[in-house]
Amino acid sequence: MKYLSEFQDPQLARRLLDDIHATVTRPWAMMEVCGGQTHSIIRHGIDQLLPEQVELIHGPGCPVCVTPLEMIDKALAIAALPEVTFCSFGDMLRVPGSDRDLFRVKSAGGDVRVVYSPLDALEIARREPDRQVVFFGIGFETTAPANAMAVHQARRLGIGNFSLLVSHVRVPPAIEAVMRSPRCRVQAFLAAGHVCSVMGVEEYPALAARFGVPIVVTGFEPLDILEGIRRTVRQLERGEHRVENAYPRAVRAEGNPAALRMLGEVFEVTDRAWRGIGTIPGSGWRLAGAYREFDAEHRFGVGDLSAEEPAECRSGEVLQGLIKPRECAAFGTTCTPRTPLGATMVSSEGACAAYYLYRRLDPAATTVKEAHPVG
Ligand code: SF4
Repeated sequence: MKYLSEFQDPQLARRLLDDIHATVTRPWAMMEVCGGQTHSIIRHGIDQLLPEQVELIHGPGCPVCVTPLEMIDKALAIAALPEVTFCSFGDMLRVPGSDRDLFRVKSAGGDVRVVYSPLDALEIARREPDRQVVFFGIGFETTAPANAMAVHQARRLGIGNFSLLVSHVRVPPAIEAVMRSPRCRVQAFLAAGHVCSVMGVEEYPALAARFGVPIVVTGFEPLDILEGIRRTVRQLERGEHRVENAYPRAVRAEGNPAALRMLGEVFEVTDRAWRGIGTIPGSGWRLAGAYREFDAEHRFGVGDLSAEEPAECRSGEVLQGLIKPRECAAFGTTCTPRTPLGATMVSSEGACAAYYLYRRLDPAATTVKEAHPVG
């Protein structure tokens, strides 16, 4: 299939791998930021084809996984209200809150609906003016423009029974938080290509310079990932720390100007809590003042709700790349996709789900490469 199979060509993959093997002279640890990249790496066994010295550390780039427990509980509280139609993408329905998930709310009579776009939720609000229609707006810079558009349209069309439960997060502050962690072993980043297709790359040179790390914008197919790794290894071996775009078919340096304008109009930067990690300054968006009336947290009075993460779930360490999923004692025993303790086991981009799907029977794929002293 054009545009897909051509980026999975085994001959080209072999050539890229040969180049990586020929370039590497010592141990390096790099983080792929995006959960989609993690799944592609594990699914295609890319990490197992790399030289022993190259370690891929899985990053916090799964939007469902980093949505904090308290935000899930807020969604559950709102969805259970009799006057509310709660709309969400399907992958949020099985994410566990403190005592239930959205499926449970639905089975108990809640009006919870799966939609494919925030504009679908807006259309429900237009057709059903007696309902309070709430869309669960989670995700990184990739999903934020469409959610901003829905709120912008609601205001323009005077659809007052629509609101957004906002849990948007931003990648660059997360990279900074990873680098500031005292346990950080990351020496380079494969930046998420789809995020950069919206935001461009302007925020990255300062990060690369401040922390002395190469940042290579990388796509999602096997050849994209291998090319990102190849460029990253080349920089590391040369002692460079530049920003490179290895995904030019989707990413321009300036990003998507229309999407950026919409984000700037509807959202403003705020501190945001990340599941298992804590609050990262400036790492999220909330609705700007002119759109605050569409904020579901404010409309339904759930802003003060807080929650404790379950102690046995180590997803915070998984999301920071400090452990691999199989190092969590609950992996595959008390925690499975059917009985998830954390969102990283539920989400289609979660690292625990990736290891459960593709590696749970592989005893070699258990731990981080402690043997590799890096830095
Ligand atoms: S395996 Fe389950 S309990 Fe362990 S970190 Fe992953 S989601 Fe949490």
